[in-house]
Amino acid sequence: MQIVRAQVLGMCMGVRRAEEKAKKAAQRAMKSGKPVFTYGPLIHNPQAVRALEDLGVKVLDPEAFERGELDEKANNSIVVIRAHGAPPEALERLGSLDVEIVDATCPRVLKSQKKAASLIEKGYSLAIAGDRSHGEVTGILGYAPGAKVVQNAEEAAVLAKEWERRAVALIAQTTIKKSEYDAIAAQFKAHCPSFLAFDTLCPATAERQKALKQMAEKVEALLVVGGKNSANTQRLFMAAKETGKPAWHIETAAELPKEIFQYTSVGLTAGASTPDSMVDDVESTLIKGEHHGHAS
Ligand code: SF4
Repeated sequence: MQIVRAQVLGMCMGVRRAEEKAKKAAQRAMKSGKPVFTYGPLIHNPQAVRALEDLGVKVLDPEAFERGELDEKANNSIVVIRAHGAPPEALERLGSLDVEIVDATCPRVLKSQKKAASLIEKGYSLAIAGDRSHGEVTGILGYAPGAKVVQNAEEAAVLAKEWERRAVALIAQTTIKKSEYDAIAAQFKAHCPSFLAFDTLCPATAERQKALKQMAEKVEALLVVGGKNSANTQRLFMAAKETGKPAWHIETAAELPKEIFQYTSVGLTAGASTPDSMVDDVESTLIKGEHHGHAS
């Protein structure tokens, strides 16, 4: 079996950086004995979260913490802020406790937070295109009091009409689809004469989709590796199905479907939160499986 890896696949810069920071914090904590938490799950990948747990890194529930329920638990610990970032109130609250903060907010998300804050300061009515419950969006909202989240073009149309006499600005959650962002921006353009759009989308998602399409031309079937709860992996899987080739979304090598061994060439890709080890594992299982006669 020929296995082709997509030219761009797996963990993005921001998540890789956050994972490294968490691992380093865990090593330091071994000496000091302090507990280490990540502020919400660091990665949308259950295996990677478990691997961090094995190093002693636990998850602090952001909602419970923001309700003030976890001060005692967090006290005298190390808290790693994930790539999505966190609202300033949460950082202040952590700062007021005896907590060492390791800020692993992705530089691209930091840029969005700053942009949002400066637009509000300049007096713009700010809309954020994205998922209301996503950690990155709740983080940005903390820096932009009064900003409103729009999840789709319908919501954008309603808000655009309400804001038609205002100076309006739009930014986006880094990981939403370009087409969704464009549809939302179009609504504001149509209704608000004073409108500024800032495309804060991260290229990581588009790069993985493009590499997937290029790879799909060279293979008979496709495998997408990543957490079932990872939005960008789910989107990558959708793009894989759209190529018309048979495609599977698996979390681990154990989920490899038997049918995959009937193909002579298989393409491999992975979402932006999938650790390299998961992809390597799938690849080596494919090679081993073939040698163990699955192909017959
Ligand atoms: S997807 Fe982009 S913005 Fe989000 S963490 Fe990764 S590199 Fe940063």
